[in-house]
Order: sequence, then C-alpha cells, then structure tokens
Amino acid sequence: MFTFQNITKKFGTRTVANQINLSVANGEILTILGASGSGKSTLLHLAAGLLQPDAGDVWLNQERITNRQPEKREIAMMFQDFALLPHLNVWENVALGLRLRGEKKAVARTAALRILVEMGLQHASERTITQLSGGEQQRVALARALVVSPKLLLLDEPFSSLDTALRQHLQHEISQWIQQKNIPAILVSHDPAEAALMSQRIALLENGNIIQCDTPNQLFAQPVSAQAARLLGCLN
Ligand code: ADP
Ligand code: MG
Repeated sequence: MFTFQNITKKFGTRTVANQINLSVANGEILTILGASGSGKSTLLHLAAGLLQPDAGDVWLNQERITNRQPEKREIAMMFQDFALLPHLNVWENVALGLRLRGEKKAVARTAALRILVEMGLQHASERTITQLSGGEQQRVALARALVVSPKLLLLDEPFSSLDTALRQHLQHEISQWIQQKNIPAILVSHDPAEAALMSQRIALLENGNIIQCDTPNQLFAQPVSAQAARLLGCLN
C-alpha cells in the first residue's frame, strides 16, 4: 500500500500540494484527475522522490520513504513523452532501470529480454528507438517501468499521444498488469472517461487540494460541488 500523509509542497509562495492525504491499495489504480497546472505531476514527483515535500510523509508498504533517494524507492514512473533514449536500442532502454540500480549488464539484459517477450516485443529488441512506431515506443516505456518489479507504478498521462486503438490496448494491458502484480498504481489524467474506465477510485485535484475522492460511480452520481462536477465534465 502507498500513502501520502499530510503532504504539502510549495514553489515560492505558491502551494501546489496542500496537506494531501491519499492511500492506494495493492492492485488498485487511483486516478488523480485535474486541469492543467492543478499539481498532478508534482504529486507523482513527490511520490517518486524527484521532489521533497515541505511537510508530511510518504509511505510505501509500512515504510517511511520520505527521505529516500529515488533509485532506492522501488517505484517506477512512466512519462507522457516516453523519455526513451534514442542512442540506445530497445533492450538497452529497458535494461536502463536495472543498470541505474546497480545491476550487472548481463543480468539486466536477461531481465529486459524476458519482459520484452512478455510484451510481444522480442522481435524489436535490437532496434533503435527511432525505428519503432509510437505505440511500440510506448510499450518499451512500459517495459522499462515494469522491469524493475516496482512496488508502485506512477503513470503521468501516458496515453495522451496515442490513437484510440492503441490507447485502449495499453489501458487494458496496464490494468491487467496492476491486478496480476497486485501493486498500487497512480494514474494522472485530465480525461474523466479514462479515469472512470481505468481506476477503482478517482481523486479530484483543484489548485493543490483534493476536493473529492471516491469510486467513479459515487463521484459521477454525487459530485460535492460545482467545481467537482466541472472536473468530471468537460476538461481540456
Ligand atoms: P499538472 O501536472 O497538473 O499540469 P504541475 O504539477 O506540473 O501541474 O504544476 C503545478 C503548478 O506548479 C504549475 O503552476 C506549475 O507551473 C508549477 N510548477 C511545477 N513545477 C515547478 C517547479 N519546479 N518550480 C516552480 N513551479 C513549478
Ligand atoms: Mg502534468
């Protein structure tokens, strides 16, 4: 289980996370839904350890990880723009997560090839990133996130650049994976339909505040405010 306990983060005088309390259970996908600039990515960076909170604590499986370095957190993150390295080939990109954690090259290569087989990408393992389609690149990014056997998966709008068919495929793949591995996942999105489809619970974020957190059914049936209803309606 993953927990934000009273997390506050300011940039200058601006509070971008205001006493955030959130827990995500094993096997659960929680979506943070909010408009651009509401603080979604900041929350993921705080979870991953790329940012330090000004107050509060971060917990993963009963351990306080607030001050732990990102590479020691057993957390994987998948970014909107893939962040794959063009000068490395596919398996080297996937192996990178393990190499950064100090794994030997041969061990990292074996693990990378194994997960590429699982993802149906074994035929592409020696290709460079520029030789892949957008959908293949996205799957490589997913393989790289998952190869480290993370205890938490963070997804920062990973579907926004994909066409509909690919998006649905990857959404299904990720949902299956989270259930199968029984780890918590946090998805960041500005798309209410995607949030409802992918997640067991949705947290509505407005200017660094969680204004409501509930199951999709409950949220859509009873938004607590006009603001919440607006977030569940048409964003962009
Ligand atoms: P979202 O992902 O919801 O679009 P972000 O978490 O990226 O929002 O950003 C929230 C707010 O914090 C924005 O106003 C953004 O400009 C600001 N911000 C993000 N990162 C930094 C930073 N490193 N320094 C200063 N301001 C930042
Ligand atoms: Mg963002």
